[in-house]
Amino acid sequence: MTLLDVDSIYKSYDEEEVLEDVSFGLDQQDVEVIVGPSGSGKSTLLRCMNRLTEIDSGEIYLNDDEIHDLDENELRRRVGMVFQGSNLFAHLTAQKNITLGLREVLGMPAAEAQAKAMEYLRQVGLEDQAESYPAELSGGQKQRVGIARALAMEPELILFDEPTSALDPELIGEVLTVMRDLAEEGMTMLVVTHEMDFARSVATRLMFLDDGRIVERGPPEQLFEDPREDRTEQFLGELA
Ligand code: ADP
Ligand code: MG
Repeated sequence: MTLLDVDSIYKSYDEEEVLEDVSFGLDQQDVEVIVGPSGSGKSTLLRCMNRLTEIDSGEIYLNDDEIHDLDENELRRRVGMVFQGSNLFAHLTAQKNITLGLREVLGMPAAEAQAKAMEYLRQVGLEDQAESYPAELSGGQKQRVGIARALAMEPELILFDEPTSALDPELIGEVLTVMRDLAEEGMTMLVVTHEMDFARSVATRLMFLDDGRIVERGPPEQLFEDPREDRTEQFLGELA
């Protein structure tokens, strides 16, 4: 079943066209990895999916609802996002970082929000750190709290924008493991990452974006082993 349907979206800043006629779809449980050079529009594309950035034209459907018809709270609940930095509130514990959205966006009673936060902290292996403040957590742990926070809203889709790029190498694995588990549980995910082992082993599809356009898209093995476009081959060759 189609979960996300992106139909010919365009976005420019001033004179610069950042996304040009981008169309693609995700089915439920798809894990699509987006790769492309710096400045190719990857973050902009993700941000258009939850309207952190507004498109100039085109349409985006989430389970048949045009996202521009939804109110922002509802959209942000239905489309979670995990950023490069964890964006946690420094003055709140891990658990409070999670309950905040549940309380304010969903209006959930405190006890229920706390229980839900614990459930998702457990899922990312951090139930022991519920009372820790971000400064007391490693970069990998902070990212895992960020993932738990997104999960707690029980979204239909989660966007990941280079979730491991800011991490020391030894902390990358624990975050990728959580993401891999999520994929195995059937979460639909749209992931910008340079981690090609993750792309090869977890992604159902790989998208190569260059200069605001989708150059090529397909099963990871096809893009790696038998790309149709020279640009894809060259780019993936440099990453590998
Ligand atoms: P990527 O994530 O692939 O590195 P981005 O989506 O961040 O690419 O950026 C694509 C292009 O859009 C870049 O040229 C960038 O400078 C430009 N851009 C992104 N965000 C803004 C913004 N808020 N205002 C102006 N230009 C922007
Ligand atoms: Mg980016």
